Amino acid sequence: MKIAYVSYEVSPYAKAGGLADVAGALPIYLKKMGAEPYVIMPLHKSIEKNFDVSQFKLVKENLMPDSHTYKIPFSVYQGYLPNSEVKIYFIKTDKLFDSKNIYEEENIFLKTSFFCDASLKTIKEIESDTDVININDWHTSLIPVYLKTNYYEDTSLRKIATVLTIHNIGYQGLFDSGVLTTAGLPSYLFNMEALEFYGKVNILKGGIMFSDVINTVSPTYAKEIQTKEYGFGLEGILKIRSEDLYGILNGIDYSVYNPLTDPHIFYPIKTYEDKLKNKKKLQEYLNLPQKKSATIVSFIGRLYEQKGIDLIKNMIKYLLLTDIQFVILGTGNENYEGFFKSLENEFPQKVSINITFDTDLAQKIYAGSDIFLMPSRYEPCGLGQMYSMRYGTIPVVRYTGGLEDTVIEYDPISKVGTGFGFYEYNESELLMTSLKAVYYHQKKKDDWKILFQNCMGADFSYDKSAKEYLELYKKAMSKKS
Ligand code: ADP
Repeated sequence: MKIAYVSYEVSPYAKAGGLADVAGALPIYLKKMGAEPYVIMPLHKSIEKNFDVSQFKLVKENLMPDSHTYKIPFSVYQGYLPNSEVKIYFIKTDKLFDSKNIYEEENIFLKTSFFCDASLKTIKEIESDTDVININDWHTSLIPVYLKTNYYEDTSLRKIATVLTIHNIGYQGLFDSGVLTTAGLPSYLFNMEALEFYGKVNILKGGIMFSDVINTVSPTYAKEIQTKEYGFGLEGILKIRSEDLYGILNGIDYSVYNPLTDPHIFYPIKTYEDKLKNKKKLQEYLNLPQKKSATIVSFIGRLYEQKGIDLIKNMIKYLLLTDIQFVILGTGNENYEGFFKSLENEFPQKVSINITFDTDLAQKIYAGSDIFLMPSRYEPCGLGQMYSMRYGTIPVVRYTGGLEDTVIEYDPISKVGTGFGFYEYNESELLMTSLKAVYYHQKKKDDWKILFQNCMGADFSYDKSAKEYLELYKKAMSKKS
C-alpha cells in the first residue's frame, strides 16, 4: 500500500504543534508495518536556514500547478525523515513559503492552496501508483476538493483514496468566496452542500465533505466534535458523515522520548530514586529551593484558554498555600504571561515562570516534576500528558478528548490508574483534584510509587496507532473499488 502523507508541518523540519510530531513519526511506523509511505511538505524558508538542504536530491524542476491561477514553477526536492528510509518530498518555489512563522496570515490561502495543487502534481509525476493520500487539517483540505472536481477525469489521480485527519477543529481556514477563483476551483463549490459556511468559504468543511474517510486523533474527540460544544459549527456535517468518522489515538515516538537515553534530562530514569535526582537538579536549574518534600506542579504548553490556563490562573493562589513549587514553560496570550510573571515576583521561592519555547527545558521539566497539569477546555489528543507519564510525572487533567482516552483515574483499592482528573470545566474542580494529587504525593507515598510505576509502564508507542491507520486506509480504498 502506497501512502502520501501530506502535511504543512513535519518534525524536525518545521514544527508549530503536535501535528508536526505525528507527521514526523507515524510514516516511519507505517513503513515498519510493511506499507510504503512517503511525506510531502513545503520547503519552508526556515528549513533552508536550519538544515543542510544540499543533501536533498532535486527530483523535478519547472513543474507547474495545473489548476491554480498562481502560475509559477516549482521544484521537488527529496530527502528522508531522519534515521529512516521514509522519503520526504519538499515543494520549493522562489516566492512562497518564505515567512518566519509558517502560519503567518499574509498570503496564507495562496500558499496553502498552491501547496495542495502542487502536491497533486508531485504525486502524478513521481508517485502515480499511490493508493491513499492522508491529508491533515485545513491547510491540505483542498486536495480532495481538487480531486473530485478539476481532476475527476484524470485517470491516474481519480483512483486514489483520501483520508482527512483532523488534529484540531478550532482552526478551519475561513476566507471570502473569491478565493475559489484564486485556487482555480469551480464557483459552484460556494454552496451549502460544499464549501460555503455562513457567507464564507470554509476549507476544512471542504476536506470533510470531499474526503473518503475522516478521522481525528482520539476516539473521545471523534464523538465530541459531533456536538455543538466542541464542533465549532461543523458538528452538523460531521454528524452526516459519522459513518466515515473514526478516532485513532496519536502515539509518542519512543525512540525520541526515552527516559533511559534522552540527552536533555539530568539522569536517566528507571527507578523512583532516579526521578528524585532529576527533581533536585531541576530545582537548582530553576533557582528554586532544593526541597525534597515540596511537590513540583508544572504546566508546559501554549498559554491559551484551550489549554485551561484560565482555570490555573483562577486557582493557583489557593494551591500555593500548600507545600508546592509551581513551574510554567510556555508562551501565548500576553495577559496570562503578565499574570504569571507577577506571580513569580510575589512568590520567588515557590514559582518559576519561563516564557519561552525551549524543548530542552521541556524535557527537564517532564523528567523532574511530580505533577503535570493539563486542564484543557478541549484536547484533540494532547501529547504533554503522555510525555509526562513516560517520565514518571503524574498527570492531573480535565477528562476531555484524548486526555480522557489516555489518563486512567487512580483507584487506591485496586491500585490501577495513572493520574487524576475531573469533568466540569471550572477552577474549583481543578483545585480539588490538584489538592488530591498533592495529598497523595505528600502523604500516601506507597500509592505514589505505584502511580509512578503505572505511568512509566503505560504503552503509548506508535505501533498500535500505525496498525489502526493501515485499517483506516483500507476502508478508504474499499470506497474506491
Ligand atoms: P498542541 O499541539 O495543542 O499545542 P500538544 O500537547 O498536542 O498541544 O503538543 C504540544 C507539544 O509542544 C508538546 O510536545 C509540548 O511539550 C510542546 N511545547 C508546548 N509549549 C512548549 C514550550 N514553550 N517549550 C517547549 N515545548 C513546548
